[in-house]
Amino acid sequence: MKNGQLRIAVIKGDGIGVDVANATLAVIAAAERRIGGLSLGYEFLDAGAACFRVTGRDMAPAAEEAAAAADAIFLGAIGLPSVRREDGTEIAPRLRLREKLQLYAGVRPIKAYPNAPRRLADERAADIDLVILRESTEGLFYSAAAHNRSQIIGDDEVCETLRITRPTTEKLHDFAFRLAEKRKARGGKGRVTCVDKANVFRSMAFFRKIFDERAARFPGVERSYNYVDAQALDLIRRPWDFDVLVMENMFGDILSDLAGGLVGGMGMVACAEIGDAHGLFQPAHGSAPDIMGQDKANPLAAILSGALMLDYLAERYGLEAHANAAHMIETAIQAGFEANRLRPVEFGGDQGTAEVTREVIALVEEPRA
Ligand code: ATP
Repeated sequence: MKNGQLRIAVIKGDGIGVDVANATLAVIAAAERRIGGLSLGYEFLDAGAACFRVTGRDMAPAAEEAAAAADAIFLGAIGLPSVRREDGTEIAPRLRLREKLQLYAGVRPIKAYPNAPRRLADERAADIDLVILRESTEGLFYSAAAHNRSQIIGDDEVCETLRITRPTTEKLHDFAFRLAEKRKARGGKGRVTCVDKANVFRSMAFFRKIFDERAARFPGVERSYNYVDAQALDLIRRPWDFDVLVMENMFGDILSDLAGGLVGGMGMVACAEIGDAHGLFQPAHGSAPDIMGQDKANPLAAILSGALMLDYLAERYGLEAHANAAHMIETAIQAGFEANRLRPVEFGGDQGTAEVTREVIALVEEPRA
């Protein structure tokens, strides 16, 4: 914070990232007009595949430092399949940011909205309301190409490392239990499920051991366990039974897409990446090059990520206006679905990115009890 103003670093990025980031800023501006006093100062940073194509760097000089100095970072989406490094991998500076800023807690809320498609026939699918908590700095992504840690043996073999450390895992599990406590206070189930593969891997048994150690500090929260393969099955069979699911990086990467599919698609999955001193907010989806430039992207995942950012700022600095703005945006989206006023093209509806954004702004501007 500088002179009472919160500094927000914005990386719009590539493909639909630019459109959904613009949509989010427009919705936050509408909330600001109603509430006042958000005092957000934006700094726009250049990063991503387009930046790499033009400059040979995946982030503009000093952009990393500027992001680190901000009170929060908002990111649209980064990467394009047509722009790759020599080893064939895509441009992914956000992996570096996650590691540099130690954004270990990847929070992905998965919630069923009325009138949005339900992929499961069971009526209880209307009650899906869970959070995938994905560790985001180590696990198998410790070896992601962007970190250059793979062991490459000629053209015959590549070995990757899955890393689980005690300090990060303790903080992750504490985060999971605290999140479940907060959700319980708002009427949630108050349950954390440790998702692992503790029957096969030592790293995963270690992950579970630390889960049990930390659970003892949160007696008000129920705990359970699921192997990741069984969890994939249960996300189809009975997703309404789960609350907070805590897991290793790669498992979280995969299961959050599966869970997003249950409530419509990737255009509904918001994401907060939180560390001890920094927070980065972005939709869980990528740059979606198959639909870019066509006004087809659903901006709601990004807009909900914007609400998560306001919530984070509210909690970090004790700011009531920001908590109110986050609540206003979330309830506007809920009301919009209830009244069937939000019909994104992503679900076969008639509203493109611009129209969904206009409707959310109209909903935010309406008085609501
Ligand atoms: P990344 O690895 O960077 O997360 P990805 O390769 O998993 O990206 P996405 O860009 O997330 O892929 O897209 C996956 C699919 O979901 C695509 O068919 C894309 O069009 C669709 N999709 C993603 N985001 C949205 C959105 N906001 N609105 C509509 N469809 C989307």
